[in-house]
Amino acid sequence: TEQTEKFEFKAEVNQLLDILIHSLYTNREIFLRELISNASDALDKMRFAISCDPELNDDVEPEILIAYDEEKKTITVTDTGIGMTRDEVVANIGTIAHSGSAEFIKQAAESKESLDSLIGRFGVGFYSIFMVSDHVVVRTKSYKDADHATQWISDGKNSYELSTIEAEMDHGTSIEIHLNEDMVDRFGSDDKLRDIVAKHSNFVSFPIMIGGERVNTVPALWREPKFQIKDEQYVEFYKFMTYDSQPPITTLHFAVDAPVQFNSLLFIPEKDLDIFGMDRDNWGVDLYVRRVLIEKQNKNLLPEYLSFIKGVVDTEDLPLNISRETLQDNLLIGKISSTLTKQVLGQLLKLAEDDAEKYAKFWKAHSKIFKAGHMDFLNRDKYSKLLRFDSSKAEEDTLVAFDDYIERAKEDQKEIYYAVVASREAANLNPHLEIFRRKDIEVLYLYEPIDEFVMESMRQYNDFDLVAAEYADLEKLDKFESSEKEDEPEPLSEDQEKDMEALVAKMKEILGEQVADVKISERLSDSPCRLINPDGAMTSSMEKIMKAMNK
Ligand code: ADP
Ligand code: MG
Repeated sequence: TEQTEKFEFKAEVNQLLDILIHSLYTNREIFLRELISNASDALDKMRFAISCDPELNDDVEPEILIAYDEEKKTITVTDTGIGMTRDEVVANIGTIAHSGSAEFIKQAAESKESLDSLIGRFGVGFYSIFMVSDHVVVRTKSYKDADHATQWISDGKNSYELSTIEAEMDHGTSIEIHLNEDMVDRFGSDDKLRDIVAKHSNFVSFPIMIGGERVNTVPALWREPKFQIKDEQYVEFYKFMTYDSQPPITTLHFAVDAPVQFNSLLFIPEKDLDIFGMDRDNWGVDLYVRRVLIEKQNKNLLPEYLSFIKGVVDTEDLPLNISRETLQDNLLIGKISSTLTKQVLGQLLKLAEDDAEKYAKFWKAHSKIFKAGHMDFLNRDKYSKLLRFDSSKAEEDTLVAFDDYIERAKEDQKEIYYAVVASREAANLNPHLEIFRRKDIEVLYLYEPIDEFVMESMRQYNDFDLVAAEYADLEKLDKFESSEKEDEPEPLSEDQEKDMEALVAKMKEILGEQVADVKISERLSDSPCRLINPDGAMTSSMEKIMKAMNK
């Protein structure tokens, strides 16, 4: 019973197709990478379905077959994955299911650069076939349906045709791409396809076969002994995983045996790769059990403040058929996570010691996210050593750690002073900081609202109190000599004191209800006045944040 139906693409698909087909800078060969990635996902899902229900096991070899037909000028990519039912085809190819698609369209339309990495990261890969073809035939059979297969045909222009066909294939999907005339030279041979697979899909964990031979040869890199792996291999794997065009800042590769066994291969990217889109939910580390992918972007293996990290964790200690739900509050995952977190923080400390330049890169790219780690009480020691600030004594372009501050602190100084300021220039004019300038006491400059939350939540570093400069205790400051003697404000004469009292009384009268009090300050020498909070509990910047939040 043939039943053919015609469907229109959703508007956003048309927009997307238009962008892809006309993108000048995009490397067209990535269509193959995208099809292989989908095939690999489908095989992963099949393997997972079998591990949960062994009766599904049907001796079908999990693999990806790629073939070029000289006569028809077609490339066919076939997988033995889960396949799709007719309804799934309609839902998955024809509409864009991803929340990021609108954002992709926006970014892609504005971008003057190649879309290679955007396509991969946003998961709109299937449509990239229309960069090389205007006649595509998809045949697919779901493992859930023994009797029917579905055929999807489209020219990538507004619509597609769907029909139910004889189910003589294994479960899985076969995609037949009729190459456009001008693409035949570029892609029309097994050798050319082999090169592209080796370049973009070397790390796919299922066999990719072309002309009866397996093309991808690389084993699970994270399981290999470190000394056998070349730097280029790490970088290649990183690019394969993340679609980043730049190499990572640093690579962390280690194995742990106790309290749980796992291997992990982690990377710190040069920029925040998840910054697109409204919700930053694209993060997480891929979880494998004995080399089998269990969950991409698992969110329980690392705390969110380390979510800029990309990579793989592979453990022997979990069962293969563990469900995603039980992963969430799994004790073992908890143990892996706490060990992994400690390791990552330790490696960051090492990076800070060994390579200040790389550490500065890390800080520039990821500190916004990292700072949220002040909630991680268990790792506060390491966390606080990793924080960096601008400061009144920082040399240009360098940042200051608490330890740098302490090293320079005055004898007997037991406080670390900080101030929320808009910029270095603003700090130089800030009346609260006048006395610190005069006495040559270092002040850390905080530029972001979160910085102050960090300070308030930490309160101490080693035996130093963290103190907002505007509430610094004058007695504590007084014991330090001024850097230049004549800068010290002279005590008021009796007459001056009377005048000041009269002035203060007049000001109170004028300001009335608008202020709680007006007082004579003993710490100002150049500025006429400063504003402080009456209860002294909240800095003025924190008060602004609180007000904004209550609104
Ligand atoms: P993504 O892979 O990020 O989901 P794509 O545009 O590449 O985005 O694919 C869209 C969807 O089409 C996939 O999520 C999947 O549901 C379905 N799909 C594509 N190719 C296959 C395939 N070979 N086997 C099964 N499903 C597929
Ligand atoms: Mg895809």
